[in-house]
Amino acid sequence: MLVGVLVEIKSLKEKIFTYNVPSKLIEKAKLGTRVIVPFGSRKLNGLIISYEKECEYVTKDIIEVLDDEPILTEELISLGKTMSEKYISSLMICYQSMLPSALKFNKKSLNIKYDKYVEKVFDLENPSVGEKNILNLFNDTDMVKLSLIKNKTILKRLIDKGVLKEVVKERYRLSSTYDKCDLKTLTPNQKKAYESIMNAKNIVTLLRGVTGSGKTEIYMHLIKNVINNGKTAIVLVPEISLTTQLIDRFKGVFQDNVAVLHSSLSDGERYDEWRKIKDKKVSLVIGTRSAIFAPLNNIGIIIIDEEHEDTYKQENNPRYRLIDIALERAKYNNAKIVLGSATPSLESYAKAKVGRYDLVELLERVNNKALPLVYIIDMKDEIKKGSPILSKKASDLILDRLNKKEQIMILINRRGYSNYIICNECGEVLKCPNCDISLTYHKTSGTLRCHYCGYATIKPNLCPKCSSKYLMLKGIGTEKIEEVLNEKFDARVVRMDRDSTSKKGAHEKIIRDFNDYKYDILLGTQMISKGLDFKNVTLVIVLNGDSSLNVPDYRSAERTFNLLTQVSGRAGRKEKEGIALIQTYNPNHYSIVFAKEHDYKSFYNKELKIRKQLNYPPFCNIVAIRIISTDYEIGNKEIQKIHKYLNTNLNSKYVVLGPSVSLKINNTYKFQLIIKYKEKELLYEVLKDIDKNIKNKNIKAEIDFSPVKL
Ligand code: ADP
Ligand code: ZN
Ligand code: ZN
Repeated sequence: MLVGVLVEIKSLKEKIFTYNVPSKLIEKAKLGTRVIVPFGSRKLNGLIISYEKECEYVTKDIIEVLDDEPILTEELISLGKTMSEKYISSLMICYQSMLPSALKFNKKSLNIKYDKYVEKVFDLENPSVGEKNILNLFNDTDMVKLSLIKNKTILKRLIDKGVLKEVVKERYRLSSTYDKCDLKTLTPNQKKAYESIMNAKNIVTLLRGVTGSGKTEIYMHLIKNVINNGKTAIVLVPEISLTTQLIDRFKGVFQDNVAVLHSSLSDGERYDEWRKIKDKKVSLVIGTRSAIFAPLNNIGIIIIDEEHEDTYKQENNPRYRLIDIALERAKYNNAKIVLGSATPSLESYAKAKVGRYDLVELLERVNNKALPLVYIIDMKDEIKKGSPILSKKASDLILDRLNKKEQIMILINRRGYSNYIICNECGEVLKCPNCDISLTYHKTSGTLRCHYCGYATIKPNLCPKCSSKYLMLKGIGTEKIEEVLNEKFDARVVRMDRDSTSKKGAHEKIIRDFNDYKYDILLGTQMISKGLDFKNVTLVIVLNGDSSLNVPDYRSAERTFNLLTQVSGRAGRKEKEGIALIQTYNPNHYSIVFAKEHDYKSFYNKELKIRKQLNYPPFCNIVAIRIISTDYEIGNKEIQKIHKYLNTNLNSKYVVLGPSVSLKINNTYKFQLIIKYKEKELLYEVLKDIDKNIKNKNIKAEIDFSPVKL
């Protein structure tokens, strides 16, 4: 038997070779198993990815098969090939992105942990006292942990009689505790939405439901139905900070039938969860982006929650969009896809509008709770009044809520204490030595830190340039606000940002403690803006509502609208009415005004017009070509060469923009060209050519379809 083996070797572009499977390995050498093969005088790791009929050259024998069972299903093997083509990415990298790191090619396998149990086979008549003591342990269960049985002599006797039997079970590292709960009965509106999704005619249904409309409940009913029909389901969430509460809800309902996959798991936990899925012990997988590669069979539904989120795009190779992978898997499995969001991405809503997706809208909150009242505060006025950080209205409302024993969430998009330090005498701004970026002051640790490369240093007392002692802290971050709140109010404040959640489990703890009313105010970065559901929060304050507006990107208005809608949606989700307060310097910007009015459709219409005028997605597609180099000259020369090549080889249907160069980050420059296109045929040929022809070892090239950041 001949097979195609993908080998792990950096120096070659072509990496698939034909090998012979010797008869003693025929049983084990299946598609998707890892093998060791001879290659010249070396031995290489490889993966069987095809069966081959014949070969024009003499083939060598596979030396060893490493896996007892394939680690990739046939479906995933073929998906990898599609991805490699589509994203102009190496096949090996595509497969590696599907696997837990414990199964990566050159890693040593992690051990699987086992527990020993004893199982009761039949009831013993007239047991002795000692036997009875042991058998009593089996009164409400068929299985007991071996370590719980103390008298090993009698145990052995019972085993010899065949009454008890020793069994070994895999132990999963991730603890699975949950409070059991039942599915709620859907409200008539939810029920209608559920039915529409069930009867959708497209593969994809876009479920636009305002915040608190009960989308999660609908997901659970859909999944229940799928599982009852013997199929499996995947739920994708944008980031782990949003999953804590959601996972609790899913685990409560589906209990041990759930596996969880996300990046905060240890390698061991991740491997265990992956095996649960592979061994068909669970029917439901919840996780972040890469959970889409869960080795499930017979998928019935794929749910992508908060579908507009940027985290659904992978930022390193293979640079895939989740929806594209989900579509491949849905087609293979004949499954449905549900995209859920209160603020769908413009692209998705446009697809729904032209009928490529089914559109289901839930415009009321559960039990018709009103959406929060949103106030916009013009900070230009507040500065004149002398309250540059916290407006008068914000302070008043905070006091009011504290008195009523209701809780408050405050969002500020920047961590640290002050976001830059400037010398009042010479004007020097303290910058990172590796980046063209100013350093952020972190008061808690007394350090200056670069948020781009991780550089950290003790804060100096004197200006490094002119030795003046007048160093001014400018701009505000979470730590500063925490200080202000503590000075101004008698309140229990908890801060949630990347610094306060770096320890494993810190995140979950803050959320649970806040939910249990151990704090009055939750202060945080975007981390707190989405997905969280606290019953006692009646006030949400956004301190700098336009920070995302000032980013030069065609999606900045959309991001601002989404963020403001999501964060105000955290207020008043249960019985109590909620208020959201947005502090801004652009009170008349349409993304802020429409967010205040909860008017997605007007925002969509306005933004779509602008996109059309400027020719941006959804009216075209975008691919970015980047050259990354530590040497400015080398990078610049290379990108100019590519620019020229594009101009000669692409016709006038393609628009090439750039090149532009980024600020220096971590001592490297990023040069970028953007291509706007509608058809990709010619483009693919050209891009593949570029990819092939970059030979300079001192630079790195990236081809990025639908880039998240321009
Ligand atoms: P969304 O995901 O749309 O923001 P959720 O699914 O989180 O909304 O629902 C908002 C709140 O309403 C949650 O606390 C949830 O438990 C509750 N809820 C949702 N559906 C129902 C229902 N059918 N009956 C009772 N409570 C519900
Ligand atoms: Zn100075
Ligand atoms: Zn830096």
